[in-house]
Amino acid sequence: VESFEVRTVPLGGVRGIEVHRALPQRALPTVGAWCFLDEFGPTRHPMNVLPHPHIGLQTVTWTFDGEVRHRDSLGSDVVIRPGQLNLMTSGRGVAHSEFSRTGNLHGLQMWVALPSAEARSKPAFAQHTELPVYEEDGLRARVFLGTLGEVTSPATTFSPLVGAELGLSGATAVPLRPDFEYAVLLIDGDVEANGIALRPGRLYYAAPGHGELTLASSPHTARLILLGGLPFPDDLVMWWNFVGRDHDEVAAARADWEAADIVRFGPVTGHGAERIPAPVLPNVRLAPRRRPGRG
Ligand code: MN
Repeated sequence: VESFEVRTVPLGGVRGIEVHRALPQRALPTVGAWCFLDEFGPTRHPMNVLPHPHIGLQTVTWTFDGEVRHRDSLGSDVVIRPGQLNLMTSGRGVAHSEFSRTGNLHGLQMWVALPSAEARSKPAFAQHTELPVYEEDGLRARVFLGTLGEVTSPATTFSPLVGAELGLSGATAVPLRPDFEYAVLLIDGDVEANGIALRPGRLYYAAPGHGELTLASSPHTARLILLGGLPFPDDLVMWWNFVGRDHDEVAAARADWEAADIVRFGPVTGHGAERIPAPVLPNVRLAPRRRPGRG
């Protein structure tokens, strides 16, 4: 098991908030198809993220506290509440905004990279308000994406993976697939995982080869996020809000957003002309991130 530092970074321009970025890491670009993991809050500062584009990924929004209004270029306009999943599949291009309601705010913004065959498909959005629970002694796990044990989320996925919120009360064992790699992020409480005391602000990573994860919380309940999946086969170029296979694909998406190409990205109703401009591309060709020892 390796651990990685979670970094604090500003989000969404001058009106944005600080977030805690667990993925990607320089030496860990993906865990399964999971390629991005931000924790926002707990805070009372609002999150106001104006329309911005995505390609090549699914955005996975999961909250612990507060309410966030999601609007997108497909016409979706929904409020997400704790225990619900917002899943937006960008395909070749989509745009969305996210504005929190007044009050406490705490949650996760995650991205899942799409396989090549799906990366140019039609965009889609779904909100899931009923998600299944995997239960064992000492464990209640809400499976928001993919499969844990025999419990499968109804949300659409394009590669074998799992995303679950684990609620712990005592000691338990979580079933793992030996062909999956996994990451664990402590949200609150005191937890030992396979005998290691988890620290806040660290992302813990386990390579394939494990059949279970033993967890113990003491003296109170605790909460963790478990992400996992089959190691993603493709090298990815990740830049700003885009996941592509090479520099040219990302540069084309940037140019289309800057040209306000409504065929590709469409308008997000309710924001007038307000949108987040793309940053300037660096003066070098963007290269895929590769993990050390992997070609
Ligand atoms: Mn977004």
